[in-house]
Amino acid sequence: MRDGFGRDITYLRVSVTELCNLRCRYCMPAEGVRKRSHEEMMTREELREALCVAADLGIRKIRITGGEPLVKKNIVSICEDAARIKGIEEICLTTNGTLLPRLAKSLRYAGVSRLNISLDTLDEEKYAGMTRVGELNEALEGIEAALSAGFERIKLNSVLIGGWNDDEIRPLAELSVKWPVDVRFIELMPMVDRGVFGRESYVSCDRVTEVLPELLPIPHNDGVARLYRLPEGQGNIGLISPLSAHFCGRCNRLRLTADGKVKPCLHSPLEFSIKGLDPEGIRQQFLAACAAKPERHELLDHEHMSGANRSMNRIGG
Ligand code: SAM
Ligand code: SF4
Repeated sequence: MRDGFGRDITYLRVSVTELCNLRCRYCMPAEGVRKRSHEEMMTREELREALCVAADLGIRKIRITGGEPLVKKNIVSICEDAARIKGIEEICLTTNGTLLPRLAKSLRYAGVSRLNISLDTLDEEKYAGMTRVGELNEALEGIEAALSAGFERIKLNSVLIGGWNDDEIRPLAELSVKWPVDVRFIELMPMVDRGVFGRESYVSCDRVTEVLPELLPIPHNDGVARLYRLPEGQGNIGLISPLSAHFCGRCNRLRLTADGKVKPCLHSPLEFSIKGLDPEGIRQQFLAACAAKPERHELLDHEHMSGANRSMNRIGG
């Protein structure tokens, strides 16, 4: 699929649930998640069908996300299904890591090739405060489990929040020295209730290069991130700047929500429903979403909220 601006769409981010075992303040509204009826959500069979159509249309890489994908009871089977689809070359998964001690090995056997694990702080109290219910230890044990299950090129994702974790840039980055992992800093996006985060929370990823002047630039980038490495690093440091330097020109993705809506852009309210459609209907909706992909998203900052009509846990970050 090629969109109206010449971008080849080869990457689909697939949310398998809106539910989560954590309640991160930048992702979910304070009232948390309303569990919806099974009839409203994609079944395993519908998802497999949709992924077959997507692969036929040229999707080569899938990222399973949520909500928290590992709270989904049949997550391993969903990954196995995806891995068997002709044309799909890579299955990645994004998780908060807390359930990896139980699931890392099965996911690896199921065909998941790469993991992104979210970790915004190394301070127990701050972790509990931001996630509202989480325990830092569980996330750290998850990372260890992923490493021992043999996942390569694990990425740790930290959302950079001014006045909250920008004093931890160095210790977070140094995890790439301790472990063979990439550490990526992501600018906070204004997705939920603006009242929660003020102007000072939205800091540019340039803060990372200021704090770590020894970072060595790596000329090739991996799509959306600017890449660097600490002199002793086993992995890279990635900077992802949707606010200060949007990467829309290189965007090669569509999204599929857990209730069966294809989204052309994270920050657009446009959605194309595939729930209940036959393969030809699904195909037409993927093509329509591709054709509707905007050239770029609107301005995002502390005053300009994302145009998405959903919180992040309901889109699939
Ligand atoms: N539960 C999984 C996790 O936390 O990794 C997967 C879903 S989560 C929505 C995916 C990613 O989106 C996480 O790395 C999370 O930190 C990021 N995210 C959520 N809300 C965000 C926001 N407002 N700005 C930037 N990143 C955000
Ligand atoms: Fe859950 Fe991930 Fe959202 Fe945190 S960022 S509330 S772990 S879905």
